[in-house]
Amino acid sequence: MKLHVWSNVDGYFLSRPERRSRLVELEFDPHDACRQCGERVLSVSTDNSNICPWCDSGANRPKILPYQEQEIIRLLKKQSDENKDWKSASRRVIANRATEKDVRDYLDVHGFYGSSARFISLELAAIERPGWVQVFNFHAHLKTRDGRWVVRYGICRTDERTSLFEVTLHEHKEGHSAALRTGTRAMITRDRRQQHWSMLPLLMLFLFVVGVASVGAILAPEPNRTLGGPRSTADVMSGTVAAPLNAQPAQP
Ligand SMILES: [Zn+2]
Repeated sequence: MKLHVWSNVDGYFLSRPERRSRLVELEFDPHDACRQCGERVLSVSTDNSNICPWCDSGANRPKILPYQEQEIIRLLKKQSDENKDWKSASRRVIANRATEKDVRDYLDVHGFYGSSARFISLELAAIERPGWVQVFNFHAHLKTRDGRWVVRYGICRTDERTSLFEVTLHEHKEGHSAALRTGTRAMITRDRRQQHWSMLPLLMLFLFVVGVASVGAILAPEPNRTLGGPRSTADVMSGTVAAPLNAQPAQP
């Protein structure tokens, strides 16, 4: 069976370690025998070899009953599924790390050494609601297949629905900026998001304040002061009050 586990320089981990790591998929055979004790491995060792966690840690292996084995394997699978979900969830939000890997894979088959690429930056530049389409912006030092180091500005466009993964590389920052502007038109970008998302609550607050103020003015006990004229309470009740109340929904 396949297990989704975390990997970093220290090895493989079932739950996410503190150190920066990425998710990988491993082939795991729950019936594999430990090379030291001969019992079932029942876990993923840090070097992905067939050694059980007890032999690996030097602890005495307890007697494990078949139903307990099944339970351990079930928990392994459960944790693996959680890891996998984390991956898909994070891809939807800000998938920089997953994207970095995808970009490396892309570079590998497009004339560079993907694993040697040094990313100076890689960030989400724009999304299209509800978030399927994302555009990433990156700046990296890349090693070409003939051994030269070059600097490239890149744009990476992904669409989760169609598994689209499109990368364009630019030698110059100007060309890259222009392409990024064109490519993210009508999307929510870092700059545009600022307006869209911060203005809306402000606008709503403003409307709310205006609404409360006008209702307050209307309901104020002294009509002379709030309405600014020497009118009788009867006038206010009949005409002036009705007008603003009716006008209320028409406000933007
Ligand atoms: Zn063992």
